Amino acid sequence: MASVTIKGLRKRFANVEVVKGIDIDIADGEFVVLVGPSGCGKSTLLRMLAGLEDISGGELRIGSKVVNDLAPKDRDIAMVFQNYALYPHMTVADNMGFSLRLRGMPKTQIADGVSRAADVLGLSHLLARYPRQLSGGQRQRVAMGRAIVRAPQVFLFDEPLSNLDAKLRVAMRAEIKALHQKLSTTTVYVTHDQIEAMTMADKIVVMRDGVVEQIGSPLELYDRPANLFVAGFIGSPA
Ligand code: ADP
Ligand code: MG
Repeated sequence: MASVTIKGLRKRFANVEVVKGIDIDIADGEFVVLVGPSGCGKSTLLRMLAGLEDISGGELRIGSKVVNDLAPKDRDIAMVFQNYALYPHMTVADNMGFSLRLRGMPKTQIADGVSRAADVLGLSHLLARYPRQLSGGQRQRVAMGRAIVRAPQVFLFDEPLSNLDAKLRVAMRAEIKALHQKLSTTTVYVTHDQIEAMTMADKIVVMRDGVVEQIGSPLELYDRPANLFVAGFIGSPA
């Protein structure tokens, strides 16, 4: 676990600035949800945190370490994407252990790590299956398993539930929260879904057009929205 500090963060694509100086302080073990309309820069921010995108300005820290120029593999972060492409020709166990194998971990240690992660996620009985033999929710759990198995300091989620049907989405929200309660891993979770943000977050960051409009607990945003945009977006009566 570690804190995450985002300071004056900027991103330009060609001449267009899409992240325009963002500051967010995330405490150790906190579950922070970034929410905002499509195109406001949520994924870009997350990809910069993961090191998948260069930053144009500002500073990113994990714990006390500045990670601006670190390669993704050196950041101790694991990211779960919306289209959680699993390797179709590998079993659940092999999918989950793959990143450890890449890092040269011995086989018995990989098996231990996979078995522990599978236990946490209720996947132990599915380890020998192939992705095509799983339901959508089970596949999403395997995608999370791949992230957990590395025991990273920070989890990043980019709209992980948006490909699931409504009922499953609600169930998976609860599962992700339960997982967070078990592991307490610092989490940045991106969604465009206000309900998801309100029900899951310790702290919500409302973004619009590359800037932060407000940061606060779900209750704070609901009771004291900073402006009409936040009020409208969160659906509070202000
Ligand atoms: P969100 O995840 O909030 O929907 P994104 O971070 O994906 O938003 O995108 C923010 C803005 O940056 C959008 O206008 C998008 O078109 C633009 N953008 C994202 N990636 C690129 C890229 N690789 N090149 C140019 N523009 C991009
Ligand atoms: Mg996005």
